Amino acid sequence: MRSCLNALGVLLNNNKGKIDKPVPVNFRTLVPQDFVEEDISGPSCSSSSSEIKDNRISIFNLSRKKGALPPVVSQVTTLLNEAESKASSKDFAKSVELLEKATTLGSACAAAKLGLVYHGGIRSTVEPDYSSAAAYYLLALKLIYMIPSDKWDLGLLLEVIAGLSEIYRKKMRRDEDNDIWMSGIRAMRHVENSLQDPAMIRNFKHRELQKSKAIRVHMNYCFGLTSETDEEYQDAIKFYENCKRIGESNFATADKLVKKAQSKIKELKSKVPTVKPICVSCDYEPKELTDIWKLLVCSKCRVVAACSRECLTTHLATHATHATRS
Ligand SMILES: [Zn+2]
Ligand SMILES: [Zn+2]
Repeated sequence: MRSCLNALGVLLNNNKGKIDKPVPVNFRTLVPQDFVEEDISGPSCSSSSSEIKDNRISIFNLSRKKGALPPVVSQVTTLLNEAESKASSKDFAKSVELLEKATTLGSACAAAKLGLVYHGGIRSTVEPDYSSAAAYYLLALKLIYMIPSDKWDLGLLLEVIAGLSEIYRKKMRRDEDNDIWMSGIRAMRHVENSLQDPAMIRNFKHRELQKSKAIRVHMNYCFGLTSETDEEYQDAIKFYENCKRIGESNFATADKLVKKAQSKIKELKSKVPTVKPICVSCDYEPKELTDIWKLLVCSKCRVVAACSRECLTTHLATHATHATRS
C-alpha cells in the first residue's frame, strides 16, 4: 500500500506542473475527443450506459475525429488509436504504455481508461490495483476540471466518478488511504458545486440531467461515507438525504446507492441522540459518553432524559399533572 501511495504521489507530482499551472496550450482543443457531445460524434470514449462493468469493451472504444487537428491533438489521437489497435491485438502492455503517454499529454480520456485498466485489471498483463486506479481516476478528474464545466463530457465524468465511488465503497480504507481518500473528496466537492450551478443545469438535455444526477448520487454517497467514518453522523445523514433527494437516474449502480442511502439514514438516526443529555429533574449533565448512554429516556414524551429512576419518576409525575389539568 505504501509503495502504491508513493506511486500516486510521484504521479500527481510529476504532472503537477502540467496540471495546476497555467499552460500555454488550450486544453479545450488539446483533447477534443474527451469532451465532444456523444450524440454528435457517435461513440465517444465513454460508455456511460454500462458505467464501468466491462472495461475490455469500454476502454478501447475510441472515437476518431475527422479533419485536420492541431499537432498535440493529433499526437494524442494517434496515441489513443495506437493504444486501441494494440489492445485489439492483445498487446495490452504496449497499449497501457501508449495510454500513459497520452495521459502525460493531458488526455483525461486516457487517464480515465488507465483508471479502468487498473481497476479491473487485464488478465495476465495488469494486476487489479485499486490505488493506481484511484490515482488515474483522480488525474482524469483534475484534467476534466480544467476545462469549462459547460464543455464537460458527463459520460466520461460518470465513468470516472462511478469507478472512484466503487473504490471508496469496496476497497479503500479511510485510516490507511487517508491522503488519496481526502484528495478525492476535495475533487468531488468541486465537481458537486459545478453540477449544482443553475446556469449549467439549465442547458442540460434530459440524458445529461440523468447522468449528472447519477454522478451527484455517487459523490454524495462518498461524502456520507466520509462523515460516517468521522462519526459526524448528522453530516452523514445530510449527505445520504441528498442522495435520496437527487433520486433515481436510470443508472443501475447509482439507483442502488439511492436505496442504500435510505437504509443508512435509518441506521444512523438511531446513533444520533435527539434527546438533550441533561437530567430533566436535577440538571445533572454527564460529560463522558458512557455516562450519557446511561441516561434514561422518558418513555412518555421521548424528548427528555433522567439520570436515575427517582428523577424519572419525578418527571413522569409532571406528565400526570399535565394530563389531569387538560
Ligand atoms: Zn437527575
Ligand atoms: Zn417525559
